[in-house]
Amino acid sequence: MTDVLAVADHRQGSLRDVSFELVTAATKLTEQTGGDLHLLIIGGPVEEFAEKLNLQGVDVIYTVDEGMEFNHDIYVQAVTQVYEAVAAEYVVAPNSVNGLDYVPAVANTLNLPLATDAIGLDANDATLTVTREMYGGKVATTNELDGPAVVTIRGAEWPMAEGPGTASVKTVDFSLDEGSVGSRVTGFRETTGGGVDISEADVLVSIGRGIDEEENLAIIRELAEVLDATISCSRPIVDSGWLPKNRQVGQSGKVVTPDVYLAIGISGAVQHVAGMKGSDAIVAINTDPDAPIMDIADYAIHDDLFDVVPALTEQFQ
Ligand code: FAD
Repeated sequence: MTDVLAVADHRQGSLRDVSFELVTAATKLTEQTGGDLHLLIIGGPVEEFAEKLNLQGVDVIYTVDEGMEFNHDIYVQAVTQVYEAVAAEYVVAPNSVNGLDYVPAVANTLNLPLATDAIGLDANDATLTVTREMYGGKVATTNELDGPAVVTIRGAEWPMAEGPGTASVKTVDFSLDEGSVGSRVTGFRETTGGGVDISEADVLVSIGRGIDEEENLAIIRELAEVLDATISCSRPIVDSGWLPKNRQVGQSGKVVTPDVYLAIGISGAVQHVAGMKGSDAIVAINTDPDAPIMDIADYAIHDDLFDVVPALTEQFQ
């Protein structure tokens, strides 16, 4: 009967999708251990978040009404206090920017082993088996953690949990050591790229090296406009300075899960696929029928993008 403490992730007043995926991953664990799933929400509009995260599988939701944005010291203190209060064995959190910031400190404070970026979790007796990828997704490893442990999970690996649930909601009697809070978020400033978040897009028109020249991006912009889609790209496009870094999909870019992902002139290298394989429908346009992207595409168009893209734009118009 091993209990699990899952910690939600949010930014600028919105829950991240990975918080809903976290519930699925943690529910699967409690189904295996027979324990309870405790879900912790720290900061932000906690009541609204608790309502949204009252999903199937969650037994108790704990809220810590402390600040609107992520704060390293508050998160470390809140997670360790709640972990000890509920006597959970496993802490599970997203492998997000926030998660990578505070979760190692939680593991350190609790003196527990930490496994990051999990793509699979299995609990059996007192052993937690964590599947992780290495070498840019070429190898999957399994790591066995005996006893209590802390884990971060990769986004877009588990489906989002659904509601409604029947969890009770409790406010944590949290004692904050104010003196230990060394930093505060004072605001957000968008980076170049106009603050576009490709991970939130429903339709992505993604372009790769097949576009050949920067000026050819014009046909991609036209297609994106008629589809009301967001433009993303593979790494060489960012390396060439044709699109900003926040448009890059992949291992060293962003993980995306749109309804439709159009991969145009993209070969489908493992580092790219790591970022888009969770898309609902993948459409690939490529002159090479043997390009790896053609194997994972739901619709593979074996043709020249300079013919196909303008034709698609015309059709959708
Ligand atoms: P290419 O592999 O050159 O493919 C171009 C494709 O366009 C080919 O399949 C070709 O057949 C097709 N093509 C050419 N002309 C046309 C045409 N006229 N019409 C239709 N199709 C055409 N890459 C990422 O994307 N994201 C990452 O996050 C990332 N991280 C990395 C991290 C590491 C540590 C390393 C080592 C690499 C990383 N890479 C990443 C790079 C990755 O290995 C590939 O080099 C890259 O994804 C290739 O991009 P591409 O598919 O656009 O280019």
